[in-house]
Amino acid sequence: MEVNNVELVMSAVSPTQYPTTGYPEIAFVGRSNVGKSSMTNVLINRKSYARTSSQPGKTQTLNFYQVEDQLYFVDVPGYGYAKVSKQEREKWGEMIETYLTQRETLRGVVSLVDARHEPTQDDVQMYQWLSYYDIPILILATKADKIVRGKWNKQESIIKKKLGFNKKDSFVMFSAQTKMGKDEIWKWIEDHAFG
Ligand code: GDP
Repeated sequence: MEVNNVELVMSAVSPTQYPTTGYPEIAFVGRSNVGKSSMTNVLINRKSYARTSSQPGKTQTLNFYQVEDQLYFVDVPGYGYAKVSKQEREKWGEMIETYLTQRETLRGVVSLVDARHEPTQDDVQMYQWLSYYDIPILILATKADKIVRGKWNKQESIIKKKLGFNKKDSFVMFSAQTKMGKDEIWKWIEDHAFG
């Protein structure tokens, strides 16, 4: 998809604040610092549109980006901050759970993991949880430029094994630096949003 117009239309914490236009939605999840903002910026051909590395302690909101007059990208706040309090973590969990389980226009979730490492317990939990709710998932292994090409297949196997990857889901190796994988992500998004 050729993207010219992207606009942050809402930062929501509860369903009453979600957009009501009815466009299909694709959500992005991943632990903080995994490269979610960088990936979003590559998808929409911007250098610094999506904010990078949200600070701990900042208000955690679901950010709805309207892409053309066609769909929303929903940036789900990153998990895995060691510093947040138990109370904050619970609030985050509730907000995410409400969104992911009740949003009728949600068509799929792009779940980011670090291509270099075994997925964390949080990554595994998120994947298992999304699978349980039967939400279509694209596992995006990012920062692939940081490992040599010869290891991509091995890393893919390690990641899939740890997640308990289900064949009905999709997997893409990605780099925000080289933009490898960008077309594959867009294809998956379009298939799920409009298919
Ligand atoms: P977020 O917290 O998930 O939004 O992560 P960011 O997009 O802010 O990225 C965190 C850090 O990783 C930044 O320093 C980025 O420049 C870096 N980064 C993100 N994606 C890539 C990538 O594909 N390759 C490399 N080499 N660095 C990346």
